[in-house]
Amino acid sequence: MKITFLGATRTVTGSKYLISTDTKKILVDCGLFQGYKELRLRNWNKLPFDAQKIDAVILTHAHIDHSGYLPLLVKNGFKGKIYCTPGTRDLCAILLPDSGHIQEEDANRANRYNYSKHKPALPLYTRDEAITALDQFSPIDFNEPYQLFKNITISFSPAGHIIGSSVVRLEYQNKSIVFSGDLGRPHHLVMKSPAIVSSTDYLVIESTYGDRLHDRSNPLDQIADVVQHTAANGGSVIIPAFAVGRSQDILYCLYQLKKAKRIPDIPIFLDSPMAENVSDLLIKHLNEHTLTREQCKETCQTAQYIKTPDESKAIDQIKTPSIIISASGMVEGGRILHHLKVFLPDHHNTILLTGYQDPGTRGDRLMRGESEIKIHGEMIPVRARIVAMSNMSAHADYEEIIGWLKNFKQKPKKTFITHGDQDSTLSLKNKIEQTLGWKCEIPEYLQSEVL
Ligand SMILES: [Zn+2]
Repeated sequence: MKITFLGATRTVTGSKYLISTDTKKILVDCGLFQGYKELRLRNWNKLPFDAQKIDAVILTHAHIDHSGYLPLLVKNGFKGKIYCTPGTRDLCAILLPDSGHIQEEDANRANRYNYSKHKPALPLYTRDEAITALDQFSPIDFNEPYQLFKNITISFSPAGHIIGSSVVRLEYQNKSIVFSGDLGRPHHLVMKSPAIVSSTDYLVIESTYGDRLHDRSNPLDQIADVVQHTAANGGSVIIPAFAVGRSQDILYCLYQLKKAKRIPDIPIFLDSPMAENVSDLLIKHLNEHTLTREQCKETCQTAQYIKTPDESKAIDQIKTPSIIISASGMVEGGRILHHLKVFLPDHHNTILLTGYQDPGTRGDRLMRGESEIKIHGEMIPVRARIVAMSNMSAHADYEEIIGWLKNFKQKPKKTFITHGDQDSTLSLKNKIEQTLGWKCEIPEYLQSEVL
């Protein structure tokens, strides 16, 4: 068996690994590149294989940097099945059409305002093309080994990162390879801990936080502080957050803070056409997180859901303090851009960044204190207070990754470190080599290795 690294090499996006055997070609994850323009341009590159010749796709989880290329793969002729957990299937049914929709909107806007070099600017794929790709999904329950083809078995175990997220194990003849996907944390606000894995011949491990430790403080205290301070100043709190996972974590915090009367009773808006559907999934997949059915309901009822673009514009006109949660989390697209155009120039407001900010994204620029940022071709002054939280992550930090690896009873023959920037991958490599004495490698883009 051979592995080829087609993404997430020295970067956190574009996860795509090709497993080839004598007779089969299987893609593990099929994500979009995001962040820097050079990376995003890779989404337009011709793949080094024929999409029609791929026999199956396996998804670790639904985040777009792991699943967002699928509609394009299908458009290019992939006819096989897409295997994942039921939760991942449910989330992809929301996220992929939304991804197509965002790309159509971006292309339309670029054409309208004439700020793209491409005439006309085109979407990578449309909402309809994303919906077509959903027909090929084939969900498999957690911990149920499944014979994919003769000699090839796969299984999914919970990764504790978002609903449906999994650690994928693939066995071919007598060899095994485990993909960590995005690894969750032992003490997350909402998600259960990642499942223990105790052996594999080869391991592909993520390293988003390979060089960092999360702040161990309680996110509730920090959110309470930001909301109280901003509301007292007459400002609003704008939270760029991914509609899946992070938005529900924030709502859970706000629900608890409101219940304990630790924050004023100001309106909370969850502005995303898909967030309401995602919240329903918390109830559908109760066994993957720590909330009760009742807590799920109350968490979801904490916010008013904003569906249409007109409603979204209307909440920007409210003159009294409010909290607006809207995607995307790294401020790269979506409705958050419109809100920031309104709220960034006013020093009474606070922008609360709650997740990883990929270098080059607007979220990263805000975090670094840039005095103006470009939105829709227009420079917007940054006068609002910018607060970055580092305690809400859904990714294990390096101590938590090493803790998870310590469950292994034998050293893997080789551990490939992916899904992290240059510094994090290198740092995690050193830590694993020093702490566990394992043989590690940081693969390059398009590198192949015989296993
Ligand atoms: Zn993820």
